[in-house]
Amino acid sequence: MVPVQSVIQTQNLSKNYGNFQALKSLNLNVPANSIVGFLGPNGAGKSTTIKLLLGLTKPTAGSGTIFGMDIVNENQDIRRRVGYLAQNPNFYEHMTARQIMDFTARFFFRGPDNLIRARIDKTLKLVGLDDKADRPVRGFSGGERQRLGIAQAQVNYPDLLILDEPAAALDPQGRRDVLEVMEKLRKHTTIFFSTHILDDVQRVSDRVIILNHGELIAQGSVEELLSASLGLNYRLVLKGDASRAQKHLQSFAWIQDVMIGHQNGKTIMTIVVKDVDLAERALLREVLSDENLIVLEFSRNKQNLEEVFLSLVEGAA
Ligand code: ADP
Repeated sequence: MVPVQSVIQTQNLSKNYGNFQALKSLNLNVPANSIVGFLGPNGAGKSTTIKLLLGLTKPTAGSGTIFGMDIVNENQDIRRRVGYLAQNPNFYEHMTARQIMDFTARFFFRGPDNLIRARIDKTLKLVGLDDKADRPVRGFSGGERQRLGIAQAQVNYPDLLILDEPAAALDPQGRRDVLEVMEKLRKHTTIFFSTHILDDVQRVSDRVIILNHGELIAQGSVEELLSASLGLNYRLVLKGDASRAQKHLQSFAWIQDVMIGHQNGKTIMTIVVKDVDLAERALLREVLSDENLIVLEFSRNKQNLEEVFLSLVEGAA
């Protein structure tokens, strides 16, 4: 079988509710083995997109595929390979985590009991609920509920996990726990999760898709998005006169700008580059070609996705 590189693809996928256009001609591309943050303010159309992908509602226009299968006509086959966590999962409160998992797992397996039990144990451990497995869900925190929901979605070992706002309603500890679980699942499956919280995207995503007023405004790797919008900065802390190095660096086409400042007797050089690959390979070496310079620190400036997001959302408004 030819490996499918693209897990989700949509072509001009659109959804109207009456006269209201909740989703306008969406073209998505989600590659395999990635964590994709589907980001947008409330009402942007994220849940609508997820419902369309899962075949829970029909498009007004356009089409889409998951693993090459049509989201309208082949959604039963799609669902066999997809795990889904709804925005506010409901549980039978008197049941324990293990009972809930047992209930879910038996939808998928007809195998022997001991295999089902082993799968449940393994999945509960993966989400860090093994020590609470026999407690009723009634006493679970928000974060524990979300992790149980993820365990449910994961128990059939799906090739794609779709999570609708998995961390939005949680306190910081709960959010961190949920994001850690997503990190752990990275090696098993592709994860597509919606959120209106930028920080979540920046913490776990490889790629980001930004939606606003039902329209796609950006998609790509977090890195690409930051570099396309703001340029890429490297920061060096130096000892010595940096003016020669500055001139030298400015002669390269892949370097956009070199700025020098001073702080506590040290020289701070900020370099904006156009090409990260080249910068990684050559930048430090070029700085060090001036033998009188001593490099004390070399780092990539971590830029905030929030600035990019706000500029995109405000620009599109
Ligand atoms: P998000 O998940 O990004 O918060 P939604 O997809 O839930 O956004 O909603 C997008 C827009 O579509 C919102 O303006 C919402 O009010 C509207 N909408 C969603 N579902 C329905 C529906 N069943 N009927 C009418 N309008 C809806």
